[in-house]
Amino acid sequence: MTSVKILYDLQQIDLNIQKEQKALDEINSQLGESEPLLKARAELIAEQKHLAEMEKQQKDEEWEIEDLRGSIAQLNDKLYGGKTKNPKELVSLEKEKDIFKTKLRQKEDNLLDLMAEIETTQGKLKTSSENLKKLEREWQREQKDLAQRQAKVKSRLSDLSQKRQALISEIAPKTLELYDSVKMRKGQAVVRVAQGRCHGCHLNLSVNEWQRARAGALIQCSSCGRILYLG
Ligand SMILES: [Zn+2]
Repeated sequence: MTSVKILYDLQQIDLNIQKEQKALDEINSQLGESEPLLKARAELIAEQKHLAEMEKQQKDEEWEIEDLRGSIAQLNDKLYGGKTKNPKELVSLEKEKDIFKTKLRQKEDNLLDLMAEIETTQGKLKTSSENLKKLEREWQREQKDLAQRQAKVKSRLSDLSQKRQALISEIAPKTLELYDSVKMRKGQAVVRVAQGRCHGCHLNLSVNEWQRARAGALIQCSSCGRILYLG
């Protein structure tokens, strides 16, 4: 194998490595937590907290209603138990009872509103929770798929790296240095020659360049510096 052919093969491997590395970077960026999933989880937690607060409030209101009912029952005892005879006192007890009854009605209305809100929130929570589970399942599937793809790309990269090592061992250090420096400057170090033209810069080769390249010598294009490969 001529040294140019080896360089051309090396370039093919390098291009493949580049492609696989890009695929690997993309896979790596997709592995791990996902934004929509984190957001859905945070929203669910906030909703659960809100529900717990309302349920606590419901208990408090129920206690207050219990207390008010107790107070009204006590007033009824005083009013109708027969112990209180003083008319003035009876009128004042009656007024007190009215105040408690008004309070009780307000509390009961509040409680009904609150219970309706709790029911709505429970419904929403059920939907959010189902959505989250769905998102999690999808995410797990994606992650599994990504992990499999990652393993395949890594294995291909490892093969390519081994092939590259094997090729490099056959190339003279100076030639390799040239390849690396042209690659650094031009992106692509080795170019084909088609119809007497350098495929890198599209300029015609001199007869001398053409003949030497044909003979298998390592020739750089005199205008762009790329290594010429006749294939
Ligand atoms: Zn050229």
